[in-house]
Amino acid sequence: MSAQIGVTGLAVMGANLARNLARNGYTVALHNRSVAKTDALLAAHGDEGNFIRTESLQELVDSLEKPRRVLIMVKAGAPVDSVIDQLTPLLEEGDIVIDAGNSHYEDTRRREAALAEKGLHFVGVGVSGGEEGALLGPSIMPGGSRESYDSLGPMLEKISAKYNGEPCCAWVGTDGAGHFVKMVHNGIEYADMQVIGEAYDLLRSAAGIEPAEQAEIFREWNTGQLSSFLIEITAEVLAHKDGKTGKPFVDVVVDSAGQKGTGRWTVVSGLDLGSPVSGIAESVFARALSSQRGQRAEAQEVLTGAETEVQLPETFVEDVRQALYASKLVSYAQGMDMLAAAAKEYGWDLRLDEIASLWRAGCIIRAELLDDIMKAYEGGKAPANLLLDPAFAESIAAAVPAWRRVVATAVQLGIPVPVFSSSLAYYDGLRRRRLPAALTQGLRDLFGAHTYNRVDEEGTFHTLWSGDRSEVSAVDTH
Ligand code: NAP
Repeated sequence: MSAQIGVTGLAVMGANLARNLARNGYTVALHNRSVAKTDALLAAHGDEGNFIRTESLQELVDSLEKPRRVLIMVKAGAPVDSVIDQLTPLLEEGDIVIDAGNSHYEDTRRREAALAEKGLHFVGVGVSGGEEGALLGPSIMPGGSRESYDSLGPMLEKISAKYNGEPCCAWVGTDGAGHFVKMVHNGIEYADMQVIGEAYDLLRSAAGIEPAEQAEIFREWNTGQLSSFLIEITAEVLAHKDGKTGKPFVDVVVDSAGQKGTGRWTVVSGLDLGSPVSGIAESVFARALSSQRGQRAEAQEVLTGAETEVQLPETFVEDVRQALYASKLVSYAQGMDMLAAAAKEYGWDLRLDEIASLWRAGCIIRAELLDDIMKAYEGGKAPANLLLDPAFAESIAAAVPAWRRVVATAVQLGIPVPVFSSSLAYYDGLRRRRLPAALTQGLRDLFGAHTYNRVDEEGTFHTLWSGDRSEVSAVDTH
């Protein structure tokens, strides 16, 4: 018996993907650096399908049908390179090496180029959905060569999440495109969670609505425009009472949020691409600020807050819902814009409608909104910005008055809403006829002769600031 795919790295994610493959009828060869994990998996779940136990990479390779497919699911970073180095001498031209971990897309680009020189396919695959998704059906974003997808795609589509019967898996583009798309997914996830947190804070701190009551509000919100996995689980977490104290669970959890790095990667890439992912950036920084517990403790004693009394409008809860919707939409718009920028930079033919479709089930940011996002880009439509799609332009316009009221109230009350407010600033920045960037250009020209363009004439100009302040035509120097 030979296996159709081999999996090396059988910690929780690898083990669950291997089980998912076996449950879908594939024969899966198993390998882990330490054999104990292989045996533990076989002991607990060996009856779920056809597995082949192997103890070495050579055995793993020997057990596979050709062209071989080897899926690596080890710790991201140096371990992936180490496994690739050990594996590649054992493989033959045309074999496919798959990295389904959370690798940085630049690493994937490097690895793909190196393996292509040896005649091997290297496929970086973004996988979202956590442990449960890996087992029951994740959202899958494969990159690599188109040719490798012909061989690998059907298997990945079979084990992926389904939305109305459609697989949440499609080839997204060459080399590191899959890991890039997964990274942006995670960036959006950061912003999505932060806007939910801001809504919770406003309802609690401004309106005094306790977590259990808020759970009902979020449950209600989950039936409309905001319907999504994250809103659904927010209701669950807010309804939960601590078993030890009987207090709301959120009140016994330390208010410092951690991160594993994909949000940070998204922001760094956004900066590199000149793509203004301000909502994602603010959400990463909000976690960083929450983690500065020493500074926060001192600041609580020293820095003053708001002394203003604010009369909340009757519509406050609905206003917050609308502000949450609008801010969330901006985060998606920024994420999609970044994908478009990356497609240009890296020569990827990213289909934004297809990418939105992959996120509709299996992954953490699954949301009804994604169906509409898909429609906005359907059939090659390419609005310059998601917010300019007619349906979204209309729905965000409807939310703008409430959004402004909420941000103004938060500022008056001293409640930080970094993503609500930065998203509104992005929206206003996008739509304003004139931006103060004109003054910035003037300053840059004065102190550094960086030159500027005129609104009424083609060309590049410089003013002789330390001379007679006349204008000269200039060669662009920046
Ligand atoms: P992990 O804790 O990241 O890594 C443990 C696995 O890596 C073990 O099988 C370990 O083997 C192996 N390993 C570590 N260093 C190695 C080396 N130098 N050579 C060979 N094997 C090595 O495992 P995980 O949590 O299952 O995650 C796997 C990947 O999935 C990571 O990239 C992670 O970021 C990603 N992930 C994704 C999601 C998601 O939702 N998509 C969720 C969690 C994780 P030993 O048993 O011998 O130590």
